[in-house]
Amino acid sequence: MTLLLPGSFHKTSICSGPKSDGAPPMTVITTAIDMHRTIAQWRAAGDHICLVPTMGSIHAGHLALIARARQLGSRTIVSIYVNPTQFAAGEDFDSYPRNFAADQDAIDAAGGVDAIYAPAVMYSDTHATSIVPAGVAAPMEGISRPHFFTGVATIVFKLFQHVPADTAIFGEKDFQQFAVLRQMVDDLELPVTVLAHPTIREPDGLALSSRNAYLSPSQRQLAPVLYQTLRHTAANILAGAPIASCLDNATQRILAAGFDKIDYLDLRDPEELAVPSTAHPDHRLFVAAWLGTTRLIDNCALGADQP
Ligand code: AMP
Repeated sequence: MTLLLPGSFHKTSICSGPKSDGAPPMTVITTAIDMHRTIAQWRAAGDHICLVPTMGSIHAGHLALIARARQLGSRTIVSIYVNPTQFAAGEDFDSYPRNFAADQDAIDAAGGVDAIYAPAVMYSDTHATSIVPAGVAAPMEGISRPHFFTGVATIVFKLFQHVPADTAIFGEKDFQQFAVLRQMVDDLELPVTVLAHPTIREPDGLALSSRNAYLSPSQRQLAPVLYQTLRHTAANILAGAPIASCLDNATQRILAAGFDKIDYLDLRDPEELAVPSTAHPDHRLFVAAWLGTTRLIDNCALGADQP
C-alpha cells in the first residue's frame, strides 16, 4: 500500500546547526522525504532506529527518554512539533513554550542525537482524516479533553509515517496517552515497538512538564501536593483502606492545599484502564487538577518505588 502524505514529502531540507564547541553539528531534518532518505541509509547499514516524539520545550524528562533511546538503538531521532489538533479552542496552543535553539542546546548538552526531526507543518490544508481511539482513550482525559486523543493518535500515526522507526519511546508521565498509542499500534498493526519510560520528577516530587513554566512561584510551591497525595493515597490503599474513601480523602486534601479544581482522581488497572475493585501494586492512581489556569496531570503505580 502506498500512503500519500502532504507537501512535506516533496520538499527537501536538511541542515546542520553550527556548534560553538567544535563538535560535529547535529542534523536537523524538516521534511518527511529527507527523513526517509536518512533512515533508508541507516537501515542499509543495519541500524536500529529509536524515535522520541516531543512538543519541544525540552526538559530532563525528555532527556531521560532520549538517553533510553540511545541505549536501545544505534540511531536516535527526537521529533519536535507542537501539534495543533490536540489542543481545543481556548487551550494553550498559542502560548505553549517554543524555543528551538534552546531545545537544540539542551539535547546537545546531554550528548546529542543523530537527528532532530522538526517539520514546519504536518497537515495539508485539505486534511480530513483522523484516528479516533476508543477503549483506553474513553475515561479520564477522554472525558475532560474529548478532542485530545484523536489529535494525539492522528499526529503520532502520521509521525510514524514520516519517521519509520523501529522503537518509539513515550513517558509514563502521560500514561493514558501511552496506553492509547500502544492500543493504536496493536490495532493497526504498525511495525513499531512502543515503550514507556518512568516519570522524571523534581526533588520535591513534582513531575517535570513544559507546563510547569506557567506556574507562579506560589503555585509552584503548592504543586508537589499532587504527587505527595498520590503516594500517601497509594500507601493507604495498599495497607487495605477502602479505595473509595481513600480517593475521597485525596480529593479533599488536594483541594484543601489550594488547588482550584480536580478533573478526575481515579484508580485504574494499567492495561485496560478499568476501575478495579481490589488493590494491586500495579494498579495506578491518575489525577488531573487545576492550579489557577494551569492544568497538571500525574499518575503513579500503587507499588511505585519512588518516594
Ligand atoms: P511532551 O513534549 O510534553 O508532549 O512530551 C513528550 C514525551 O515526553 C511524552 O512521551 C511525555 O510523556 C514525555 N514526558 C514528558 N514529561 C515527562 C517526565 N517528567 N518524565 C518522563 N517523560 C516525560
